[in-house]
Amino acid sequence: MDNQLKIYNSLTRIKEVFEPLNPPLVGLYVCGPTVYNDAHLGNVRSAICFDVVLRYLTFLGYKVRYVRNITDVGHLLDDADEGEDKIAKRARLEKLEPMEIVQKYTLGYHQVMALYNNIPPSIEPRATGHIIEQIEMVERIIANGYGYEVNGSVYFDVLKYNEDHPYGQLSGRKTDELLSNTRTGLAGQSDKKSPLDFAIWKKADKGHILRWNSPWGEGFPGWHLECSVMSTKYLGLTFDIHGGGMDLQFPHHECEIAQSVAADGENPVRYWMHNNMLTVNGTKMSKSLGNSFLPHELVAGDHELLEKGYSPMTTRFFMLQGHYSSPLDFSNDALQAAEKGYQRLMNTCKVLNEMTYDGDDNSYDSAQTAELDKLLDEAIGHMNDDFNTPRCIASLFDLSKKINSYSDKKLDINDLNSQSFNRLKETYLKLVFEVLGLKDETDGGGDNQEMVNGLMDLILEIRKSSREKKDWNTSDQIRNVLKTLDIAVKDGAEGSKWTVGS
Ligand code: ZN
Repeated sequence: MDNQLKIYNSLTRIKEVFEPLNPPLVGLYVCGPTVYNDAHLGNVRSAICFDVVLRYLTFLGYKVRYVRNITDVGHLLDDADEGEDKIAKRARLEKLEPMEIVQKYTLGYHQVMALYNNIPPSIEPRATGHIIEQIEMVERIIANGYGYEVNGSVYFDVLKYNEDHPYGQLSGRKTDELLSNTRTGLAGQSDKKSPLDFAIWKKADKGHILRWNSPWGEGFPGWHLECSVMSTKYLGLTFDIHGGGMDLQFPHHECEIAQSVAADGENPVRYWMHNNMLTVNGTKMSKSLGNSFLPHELVAGDHELLEKGYSPMTTRFFMLQGHYSSPLDFSNDALQAAEKGYQRLMNTCKVLNEMTYDGDDNSYDSAQTAELDKLLDEAIGHMNDDFNTPRCIASLFDLSKKINSYSDKKLDINDLNSQSFNRLKETYLKLVFEVLGLKDETDGGGDNQEMVNGLMDLILEIRKSSREKKDWNTSDQIRNVLKTLDIAVKDGAEGSKWTVGS
């Protein structure tokens, strides 16, 4: 096989990269949660980053098979080969069956994902549902000479692998440097030929609850193995995109590459994408520092660092204002700015939705039409450049200024040709709702939106007739009450329009 691993750490020129694929099916695998505690904002950021990848590729016309796993066994407390299983420990603390823990926190994770409007994956495989395939992969790794059994556990032979294939390419690490940095004398490492080796199958000690029969006795799979097995089972031995948090790049993803190459001789992934971390006021968000808040605390404003609550769509918008590969800093100021920005974007969408065109394709302003098309091209161009959502949003705000000028009659929408008008309306709304995955929370969303629109029509109708009767008390009262609800009314030649927020 080709020893030269081709590894890309980011995706650029997305259209050019995927255009040759035929049929245009893109395989996307993302490392999902270990379901032993509540979903945190790091989970939310990772999910939103790859939700936008899924949404944008779908927008471009690709069919995407999106696989995101649920880790329900094998993830040990120190993220390596030692310590208690995270799920088993939680089960002991909560006095529940491990599978009750898994069910409880999987449901919680799904609720949080839905709250932030993430599309569910096409397949959501669980590690415990793929034990047989994991045992088979261990057998292939041993058969090819890259794994060895000691006392009921099987380890991956990193140095042997490194003789034949480069280990550490994804993270830029070298085995000799890794070896010199290794702590020695850790319990359990005596079974390994080298401290760099990692368990692909672990013998279950007497008290270990999660255990299965295997050719090496009762045990359970190593954490890195499940992703290698489940990604290639559903997406093929080589697939397009593998995503996950930056903290998974080493060793988790490095081990995935090694396992696939050792077992099947194929480099599994064409493009690796890693989302960056969250910080709070410039410090890494972490439970132990007391500066991490859960999604429901963020919504309710229920944390000493939060001045108020921030809605899920404000948070989604805020997260998209950072590039997925950059760190993102939470602060009240940044969230409040995001709240205003999100509101402005929603108002533009509402204005655009109601805008009608009555122009003439035989006489239109070609300069204005060209300018608008250029702005739309730019918005899409930024998404083509490694899913650059912050720049795409900046382009949407440039377009927003134009749209508001049309709405305020500073510019005449009928100066465009019908094609440009239709493109503006369709593309703008698609970018906001389908690609960025924002929802209009201000209208109550979904079914309520129609009701709110109906009620507002009625209220504005009553206000209009009171003004016609010169009943200023009633019309002022309506306007003032709406103002306290943060609803602004603008009177114009075509009647009154309302918007939420200033
Ligand atoms: Zn994984």
